[in-house]
Amino acid sequence: MSKAKQSEATGAGNGREDLNPFHIAQQQFDHAARYIPDLKAGLVEWLKRPNRMITVEFPIETEEGEVKNFVGYRCVHNLARGPGKGGIRYHPDVTADEVRALASWMTWKCAVLDVPFGGAKGGIICNPKKRTKEDLRKITRRFVSELGDAIGPHTDIPAPDVNTNAETMAWIYDTYDMMHKGRNNLGVVTGKPVNMGGSLGRNEATSRGCLYCTQQALAMGLVEGLDSVKGATVVVQGYGNAGAIAAQLYAEQGAKIIAVSDSRGGIHNPDGLDPDKVLDHKKKTSSVVGYPGTKEVSNEELLTIPCDILVPAALENVIRGDNAAEVQAKVIAEAANGPTTPAADAILFERGIQVLPDILANAGGVTVSYFEWVQNNENEQWEEDEVNGKMKAKMIKATEAVIEKQKEINASLKALEARRHERGRDGSPLAPVDLRTAAYVLAIARVADVTLERGIWP
Ligand code: NAD
Repeated sequence: MSKAKQSEATGAGNGREDLNPFHIAQQQFDHAARYIPDLKAGLVEWLKRPNRMITVEFPIETEEGEVKNFVGYRCVHNLARGPGKGGIRYHPDVTADEVRALASWMTWKCAVLDVPFGGAKGGIICNPKKRTKEDLRKITRRFVSELGDAIGPHTDIPAPDVNTNAETMAWIYDTYDMMHKGRNNLGVVTGKPVNMGGSLGRNEATSRGCLYCTQQALAMGLVEGLDSVKGATVVVQGYGNAGAIAAQLYAEQGAKIIAVSDSRGGIHNPDGLDPDKVLDHKKKTSSVVGYPGTKEVSNEELLTIPCDILVPAALENVIRGDNAAEVQAKVIAEAANGPTTPAADAILFERGIQVLPDILANAGGVTVSYFEWVQNNENEQWEEDEVNGKMKAKMIKATEAVIEKQKEINASLKALEARRHERGRDGSPLAPVDLRTAAYVLAIARVADVTLERGIWP
């Protein structure tokens, strides 16, 4: 179901909640910017909007002999801290504003993790389930050639996202390399196959980082009565790269995976599921649905199953103003980008449900992408333990920094209000912030500082 139709069906978009992902990203930004009273007004406006948006339209000749046209986007949100970085998504519901939102979340994510990249993202409007592998290869190659020098190892570096994988990244690398012969082009894209300059640990990195973030937050006492993932009950929405591997890694740490889903629906067994066997079933049948010994549930129902940890790992806007009151998890670890809307955030905060926000919780992927890029530029191949260890250190540091930032802000609301007053900003009271806002404040301040330290060109 398209997002427009989905919001029509749920009523979530009927004037009550704006589900445009870019509007949501901007609302999140505006909310957080209020807690940085010294941020210059012009900088606020600039940081909110993307630096560049490229739209390309191109045909391919399909394996069936038809000519089909496609629209693709590549957005660079901000380059202050380094080259653009962000995945490429293939999905029929891709929109320009979704790509803008995803690009801006990449800027903040890289800043939270202190990874030296800016934010970017790409997408092609297509349904990969209806295209052959040969078609997808042509679509990828033509898209990369249309982008030309807009991407490059030191300008903008794509990676996998929904419905793209290591094979897609290999095609991107090969196409770019054919267009730029005679130099080391490996760093033009990350998430490549390991035998082609990919990093060990990249495939699992998003989910592994999500696990490290959850473990650290629980160890710091974020959720009363839950200090470890061991013995915790976990529900995972989405069973692709991020979701299936998250289920496996949480289970390895002693968690009980009680429900999972994909685009066709969900499965529930309160006694626990074996994530490897569920994945085998999905590989054989194309869906988790129908896995023996489970009760079928819809994706909507899945989100309301009582559990300790809910891991949304599919698409945006699944936890909204119209269903957040039904969520019965103690903590939400956002492996997906943008799964929770601002209206839902407010409800969850009020209910004391902690949300480990996407720009922190799923940042293991871009962190190991950064390590891949370093290895490519240095012609090195690091051991998997080294990759995981370095990523763990960064995830722990970022998780601590966000939790500390939340405490710092919430302890100084009156002082921040006074500073806003001094600066002539709107004087309405500042409410305590959740972890998402704290992460944004940390990230915005880092990007703003670098922008001003560099000095605005010219
Ligand atoms: P993927 O294509 O590998 O998997 C997506 C999964 O979501 C599939 O199982 C699909 O069936 C399921 N899905 C699609 N629509 C659904 C729906 N309406 N309800 C339930 N499930 C649905 O994609 P991925 O790479 O795992 O990405 C998933 C999320 O994680 C996205 O939000 C992406 O931006 C985010 N993410 C991915 C990476 C990465 O490195 N792959 C990094 C950071 C964040």
